[in-house]
Amino acid sequence: MKIGSDKKNLHDILYSDDLVNYNGIELLNKVRQSIIGRNISVPCYAGSRPFIYLDYAATTPTFQQVWNVVCNTWNQPAEMKTEIIREVRSVCAGYLNAPLADYDIIFTSNTTEAINLAAESLHRETKNTTGSVVLNTLLEHNSNDLPWRLIPGYSLIRLNINPEGFIDPVELETLLSDYNLKFLHGKKRIKLVAVSGASNVLGTYNNLEEISRIVHKYEANLLVDAAQLIAHRNIEMKKWGIDYLTFSAHKAYAPFGSGVLVIRKGLLNFSPEEQEKIHYSGEENVVGIAAMGKALSILQNIGLDIIMEEEQILTKKAVDLLSQINGIKIHGIKNTESPLFHKRGGVISFSFKNFMPDVVAKELARNGIGVRYGCHCAHILIKHLLKVPPSLERLQKIIVKVFPRIVLPGVVRISFGIGTSPDDIDVFTRVMAGFSKNSTGSLDSRIKDFVNDRQQEVFGS
Ligand code: PMP
Repeated sequence: MKIGSDKKNLHDILYSDDLVNYNGIELLNKVRQSIIGRNISVPCYAGSRPFIYLDYAATTPTFQQVWNVVCNTWNQPAEMKTEIIREVRSVCAGYLNAPLADYDIIFTSNTTEAINLAAESLHRETKNTTGSVVLNTLLEHNSNDLPWRLIPGYSLIRLNINPEGFIDPVELETLLSDYNLKFLHGKKRIKLVAVSGASNVLGTYNNLEEISRIVHKYEANLLVDAAQLIAHRNIEMKKWGIDYLTFSAHKAYAPFGSGVLVIRKGLLNFSPEEQEKIHYSGEENVVGIAAMGKALSILQNIGLDIIMEEEQILTKKAVDLLSQINGIKIHGIKNTESPLFHKRGGVISFSFKNFMPDVVAKELARNGIGVRYGCHCAHILIKHLLKVPPSLERLQKIIVKVFPRIVLPGVVRISFGIGTSPDDIDVFTRVMAGFSKNSTGSLDSRIKDFVNDRQQEVFGS
């Protein structure tokens, strides 16, 4: 569809495509057919192959119907743009079960900006801020860590995780009680607990309802970074008592450039003039907001329970097959029979003995499979998982300064979305199983290659 210039009504723009006649699994199957780029082939070792995208946690592809909304919105008059923003605000409220009577919904450009806005708002708080503490966790993406380090007068502490990748509610309660009830840390009080709704490395979903209950018992507030949660599981903001929630449209099948901060009414500490500016700047991207609204309403009509069930099947299959490959270590929960396994989503990070993660990712790319490697903007968690001691960390920092192009250890991550099929997982695990037989990527052989190359440079013909 081309960018249109004709005037349309709200219904024509957002709700007049073939998808509106479907819901549930039927809609899911329809939507799968309309993923933009789904039939792309890429050049591989063995000729051209259909591309297998296993990087949904980085960003999600979008649907033809969402793109149509972008085209329809582009040239609409100002009044229609205002109507679209109002409509999408109520779509978000419905999707998150966050009634507009209780919450403000502020459009931003992404999760990172939304969390920074929440941090700035906290900074503006005037009452009892001496000794204020933000508590986040080892699981966090940098977006939910860096802003909390920078609020003047605040300190940041981090909650540990257990070997399966979950927060321990008892440990959370102990910390809150030590700070806010027993006053074991002088004047320091935990003001805010900032947790990811789902980890972008381990795929673990923490129990937000339980966390919220504990946090509020000790008079703190709860912020949820829902970047990895938004397109995967149902969210009950009001029922669970979440005070702040952030997400990005590009993790929920809409394009880059829009995001949301949902905040309980009364918590935003800006003057009315500043609040107007904040609303206005985010609302300028009407096209992005419209696309996000369309994508969320499609997900809601499919039903998050159906999306979750499909993802569980894929995750179990991938973990079972990967576990059978020699040398693979899956991080986080891996016992597919565990009663906790349903709390793991379709984000699986692993290490491969003797192979650097970049080598594994490149080998997969040569077979037409797109994955991600490295630290996934969660360096603290990766160091924890790989047991990097502080001395090695210091050495790594020096190495990176001297050789900026060097690749440091990290993990390989695969992540699924609604375009992922069981066949994709079969192809992926087949390539992984064959990979260990081909030794060109092993550390030993890379060192040998390096030595050979240097010999060639010095003594070569
Ligand atoms: N939090 C989590 C858990 C994420 O996975 C990401 C993106 N990888 C972000 C925050 C940041 O999202 P964005 O770059 O869209 O702001």
